[in-house]
Amino acid sequence: MADYVITFDQDRCISCYACETHCTAKNKTPGDARLGQMVVVGPVSRNNRPRYLNMYVTCFQCAKPWCVRACPTGAMVRRDDGLVYVESELCVGCKACMQACPWRIPQWDAYEGKAIKCDYCRDRLDEGQKPACVEACCGHALDYVKLNEASAKARQSYAEKAVLNANDPYAVFAVTKKS
Ligand code: SF4
Ligand code: SF4
Ligand code: SF4
Repeated sequence: MADYVITFDQDRCISCYACETHCTAKNKTPGDARLGQMVVVGPVSRNNRPRYLNMYVTCFQCAKPWCVRACPTGAMVRRDDGLVYVESELCVGCKACMQACPWRIPQWDAYEGKAIKCDYCRDRLDEGQKPACVEACCGHALDYVKLNEASAKARQSYAEKAVLNANDPYAVFAVTKKS
C-alpha cells in the first residue's frame, strides 16, 4: 500500500455522496466512469435490525499491484511513495489493467480511449492538499492518514464500538465484517 491511506468511518457517513460528486468534478471524470465509488453492502444486522451500509471504495494502492504487472507499456506506474497512477501518454487502451484488478478499480475513458484510475488526487497531494473526496466529506467520515495512524485509529474505533455494543452480538459482528 501507499505510505498514506484514505480511511472510511461507516458510522459518520450521512450518505450525502459529496465524496463521489467532488471526485467526479475535480477529475472531470468522463461518461459513466467513477474513480471513487460509494457502494451499498448488506444487509447486515445493526442493533438487531437488518441494515444496508454505505462504503466508499477507492484504489487500494496495492504493494504489488496487479494492474501494474498487467500493463504491457509501462503506463500503469507505482511511484516511490506507493501511489499507483496512469501515465496517460503511454496508455494504448488495451484494458489489461481493468481485467487484472480484482476490484475493477481502473475505469474506462471512452472519449480518450484510455484507462483512468483513482490516484488519491496525486496533483493535490503534491501541493500538500488532501484528496478531493476527503476534503469534501461533510460527515468527516473520510480521512487521509499515515498507514500506522490508520491502523491505530481503526483499533481504537473497533474497541469503542465493541464496548458500546457488548449486549448486541450481531452489532459486533457487523463491525467485524466492516474492517
Ligand atoms: S487498480 Fe486495483 S490492482 Fe491496481 S493498485 Fe488499485 S486496487 Fe491494486
Ligand atoms: S489500458 Fe493503458 S494503463 Fe491499462 S494496461 Fe493497457 S496500456 Fe496499461
Ligand atoms: S462525503 Fe462523507 S458523509 Fe458524504 S457520502 Fe461521502 S463518505 Fe459519506
